Amino acid sequence: MFSSESHMDLGCPVHGLIPSWNSAALLAGFFAYLAIAGSVVPGKLIAGVVLPDKSRLRYRCNGLLSLLLLVALLGIGAKMGFVSPTAISERGLELLSTTFIFSFLVALILYFSGCKSQSKSSSLKPHISGNLIHDWWFGIQLNPQVMGIDLKFFFVRAGMMGWLLINLSVLAKSIQDDTLSQSMILFQLFCGIYILDYFVHEEYMTSTWDIIAERLGFMLVFGDLVWIPFTFSIQGWWLLRNKVELTTAAIVANCFVFLIGYMVFRGANKQKHEFKKNPKAPIWGKPPIVIGGKLLASGYWGVARHCNYLGDLLLALSFSLPCGISSPVPYFYPIYLLILLIWRERRDEARCAEKYKEIWAEYRRTVPWRILPYVY
Ligand code: NDP
Repeated sequence: MFSSESHMDLGCPVHGLIPSWNSAALLAGFFAYLAIAGSVVPGKLIAGVVLPDKSRLRYRCNGLLSLLLLVALLGIGAKMGFVSPTAISERGLELLSTTFIFSFLVALILYFSGCKSQSKSSSLKPHISGNLIHDWWFGIQLNPQVMGIDLKFFFVRAGMMGWLLINLSVLAKSIQDDTLSQSMILFQLFCGIYILDYFVHEEYMTSTWDIIAERLGFMLVFGDLVWIPFTFSIQGWWLLRNKVELTTAAIVANCFVFLIGYMVFRGANKQKHEFKKNPKAPIWGKPPIVIGGKLLASGYWGVARHCNYLGDLLLALSFSLPCGISSPVPYFYPIYLLILLIWRERRDEARCAEKYKEIWAEYRRTVPWRILPYVY
C-alpha cells in the first residue's frame, strides 16, 4: 500500500539520506524563487524595532503573496506535467540531508564574514567570543544582509514556506496512494491555517525574539531551514504509513483545542504588537493596564507573562491529536516546543529583567504566572 519511495519514514534505510543533485536543484530553485519574489512581489515595507546600535531595518512583508504565487505556479506546473506534486514527499530524507549540509555551509560563511566585518566599521557591530564553535553555532552578526536581503527574515520565511510545501506534497502522496484519511485532512487544515496566518501577520515577526535578539549562526539557520519544515511535518509523514480511526467526539475535541490555541496565540501576539504601536489602545474593550509606561499587564499579558507560548503549545498539540495516541512519534513537535518555549521564556525573562529592571519586577508581582496560570 505504501510506496517504498516514501523516504521520510523512520524505518527507512540510511541510503535515503545520501544527498543528490536533484534535491540540491530543488533547494536552489526554491531559494532563487524566494530571493526574486522577496524583492519584486509587492508588500508593505515595515520598519523593524530599534536595534542596539539605534538603527532600524526595513522588511518587505510580501510573504503571503509570494507563497500563494508559488503554490499557484507549482499547481500549474503540476497540471502541465512539469513538476511532480509528490517530488518532495518522495525525496524526504535526501532533501533533509541536502538542506542540513547547506545550513552547515551557510553558518561557516556567516562565521567568516562576521569575523571580516568586525575589522570594518559596521553599523551593526558583530559580537565575537573568540571561540570558533561557539561563534559558528550562535552566530556573530545580528542582522546580516546579502544584496539588500535580510538573511534572518529570509530563512525563517523559507522554513515556514518549506513546511507548507512538504505538507502539500505529503497530501498529494496520500491522495496518490489512496490513503487520504480524516486525520490527514485535519492535520493539513490546522497546519495550513497556521502557516497562512503566519504570513498574513508576517509583520509581527519583525518584533520577535529571533529577529531582534538572536544572532544568525548555525542554530538559527538549522532551526529555520531544517528543523521547522522537516520536524514540524512529522505527523504528515507518520500518517502516510499509519491508519487512525477518529471518533466524532475526538474530532470535535481536536477542533476545540485548535480554536482555543489559535485565539490565545494570535490574540496575545496581536495585543502586544498593537500595544507597542499605540500604548493607549483598548485591550478587551478597556483601557490597558500599563506598568511603568512600558509593559502591558492586561488582556492576555495580564493572564500570564507569556500567554502567547501557551496558545502556540495548544496549536502544536492540535496538529498531533489527529494521529491518535497509539504512538509518541507524532507528538515530537509539541514536546519539543514545550522544552523550547520553557527555555526561551527563561532567556526572555532574563533579558527583560535586565532591560526593564524595577518595572519588570513589578510586572512579575502583578502577573505571577509565566505561561500557564496556576500551573507554571
Ligand atoms: P514574544 O513575542 O513574547 O516577545 C518577547 C518580548 O516582548 C520581550 O523580550 C519584550 O521585548 C516584549 N514583552 C514581553 N512582555 C511584554 C509585556 N508585558 N508588554 C510589552 N512588551 C512585552 O516572544 P517570541 O519572540 O519568543 O515569540 C513570538 C511568537 O513566536 C510566540 O507566539 C511564540 O509562541 C512563537 N514561537 C514559535 C516557535 C515555534 O517553533 N513554533 C519558536 C519560537 C517562538 P521588548 O524589549 O521589545 O519590550
